[in-house]
Amino acid sequence: MTFESLGLHASIIKALTESGYTAPTPVQAQAVPAGIAGRDMMVSSQTGSGKTAAFMLPALHKFAVQADAQPVGGRTPNQEMQSARSRGERPRFRAAQPKMLVLTPTRELALQVTTSTDKYGAFMRRVKAVSILGGMPYPKQMQLLSRNPEILVATPGRLIDHMESGKIDFSQLQILVLDEADRMLDMGFIDDIEKIVANTPETRQTMLFSATLDGVVGNMAKRITKDPLIIQI
Ligand code: AMP
Repeated sequence: MTFESLGLHASIIKALTESGYTAPTPVQAQAVPAGIAGRDMMVSSQTGSGKTAAFMLPALHKFAVQADAQPVGGRTPNQEMQSARSRGERPRFRAAQPKMLVLTPTRELALQVTTSTDKYGAFMRRVKAVSILGGMPYPKQMQLLSRNPEILVATPGRLIDHMESGKIDFSQLQILVLDEADRMLDMGFIDDIEKIVANTPETRQTMLFSATLDGVVGNMAKRITKDPLIIQI
């Protein structure tokens, strides 16, 4: 099997080739086509299985196709703020409107996901991923959010702070990923996760990854997904 045969956008194939990836891993072979088709999924897979690309490649594919359909140009909210300043106007604050949210249990995992996203999206026209993490200074996070990134990778607690203070608006969210969902529940994030999910559109695509799909995590997964494809690696 090849990445081309999974139907990925040419810019992503190029990034994978440059990264030295020759073939999809088993979880990618199942999750990428289903992800491109827009399906929800519950995936039981371990770290090292290639699960980050399993959810990020179909998401980047979707954004690459959307970008192709848009006219070139247009200004980012940041550029609009700068030009308002140069006209002597007080720039209006605008909440970030991400298209994709990845929730992770730890800062380290969030940073790894962001680094992988930059690698897989390196040849795309515009896609920006930022991490929103506990312990990071607020001014730095506000600066990251003001660039209106398409993709947010976050630990649940800090994300709630920004959501509740109106800095992030999830009305345009297309894809929600829960990475290492079992670990997030073990760490006591269930209420935060429920609150975040409740703020996202019903129309979103949801992909949940976890070492196990039994018990509490399985119940949560069933509540937040619609007709999910179940992948057990
Ligand atoms: P993950 O399970 O997402 O943490 O990925 C584990 C490691 O495998 C990471 O270093 C990835 O860069 C690498 N990787 C993911 N998919 C592939 C692939 N198809 N071919 C080669 N390496 C890969």
